[in-house]
Amino acid sequence: MKKCELYRCLPNVKTLLEDVELQSCIEEYGRDTVKETIQCELGKLRAEISQWKDGQETENDLEIRMKEKLPHLTDMVKEQLKEKQRPNIRPVINGTGTILHTNLGRAPINEEHFKKIASVVCGYSNMEYDLDAGRRGERYSHFEELLCKLTGAEAAMAVNNNAASVLLILSALAKGGETVISHGELIEIGGKFRIPDVLEQSGSVLTAVGTTNKTRLEDYERAITENTNMILKVHTSNYKIVGFTESVKIGELAPLAAKYSIPLVEDMGSGAFVDLERFGLSHEPTVQESIAGGADLVCFSGDKLLGGPQAGIIVGKIKYIEVLKRHPLTRALRIDKFTVAALELVLREYLSKEKAVKNIPTLRMIGKTDDETVKDAKKLCRMLKAANLSIHVSLRPCCSQVGGGSLPQETIPSMAVAIRPEQISVTKLEEQMHHCSIPMFGRIVNDEILLDVRTMNSKDFKLVVSQFSDIL
Ligand SMILES: *Cc1c(COP(=O)(O)O)cnc(C)c1O
Repeated sequence: MKKCELYRCLPNVKTLLEDVELQSCIEEYGRDTVKETIQCELGKLRAEISQWKDGQETENDLEIRMKEKLPHLTDMVKEQLKEKQRPNIRPVINGTGTILHTNLGRAPINEEHFKKIASVVCGYSNMEYDLDAGRRGERYSHFEELLCKLTGAEAAMAVNNNAASVLLILSALAKGGETVISHGELIEIGGKFRIPDVLEQSGSVLTAVGTTNKTRLEDYERAITENTNMILKVHTSNYKIVGFTESVKIGELAPLAAKYSIPLVEDMGSGAFVDLERFGLSHEPTVQESIAGGADLVCFSGDKLLGGPQAGIIVGKIKYIEVLKRHPLTRALRIDKFTVAALELVLREYLSKEKAVKNIPTLRMIGKTDDETVKDAKKLCRMLKAANLSIHVSLRPCCSQVGGGSLPQETIPSMAVAIRPEQISVTKLEEQMHHCSIPMFGRIVNDEILLDVRTMNSKDFKLVVSQFSDIL
């Protein structure tokens, strides 16, 4: 058969749309989507015919190839429809050992919490309705009291993320004047978020004081003029200066700020509520300490060490929080009902430290004991070995990290399963792990893939093994 005649062998769209096999797809995905997919699949076959040139293959071979493909056309359409229907954002398995992994969605949410969140967001809620007063209420009301109780602050609110908190605070309270900040705290947080740029964006003028390694109280005092609108302290959460250093604590700055009636603000970044020393990590300043030290406002992320939803939480003096709540930017940066519901549930857990450590996945993972990690790693190792795949599997001690720009120098001793493929390269294996239906992430160290069990759930081990079986 001639190439030009082959086109006529292809069925038309209308006939395919009437195909009995595709009727259930039309029901499920809608007629337009099915039609579009059919057109796409027919287009591929047409392209295959049109690209045929005299040479490597005879026209006869092309005809045979086409006739083999045609009976599978409806299956191809079905497959494509299924593929199209699969959401782009999907769960993944985190074997990197980095607990707060920004690329992998930062803090995971407790499943029980999620069920409660679902019951709120799937219908209507009292999001902005005060049931007791019988009138309009504030979305912050659901967690403001909790935040005050937990941190000792007078008032609280939350915006979209902590970068937004910093921008809002500076725009509302420091615009048109100077903001005094230590040289050593002019940091870049990541994703182009640099403190000097945010200051400029807010319309406040930066007055950097001290030096990179040393800033003293006198440096701050000397920099204060009648145009000073704010003293800002930024927790240098993602880097550490060691050696010949000096910085001024909130407790020392508070009397200075009070003397000149200037608001003292601290951006804590991670905002821990529980002391991490209980997990053998070094002391990370807590929000309670900052408030007790005399900060007028403290802001921090909802999805870093707090272990909640993405949010920028702001706590502090009522007179400043009131100004923030009324600022037009607040409307642009406001949190939605998902966040409100999730924040309230996470904060409630902190009413008891024991409950927080047990029920907040981030803290739960930080706090996993050696016994737990060794037991899990042995289990995964055993299961992978039992599958008889062409890989070499062994146990390997490793180090987990908190991540999310918290505790940059600290690692937590952990246990990993090391995988060395026998027939493909490690980079190839890693690539294939990323393309599983539940993508899997590990770390390549010394030509092996390490899966750190600290950030994995033993409930997923069966799935991990079956996905490795599919790959290999
Ligand atoms: C992470 C961080 C931020 C930004 O917080 P997001 O919630 O990621 O927007 C701001 N300041 C500091 C000090 C941080 O560590």
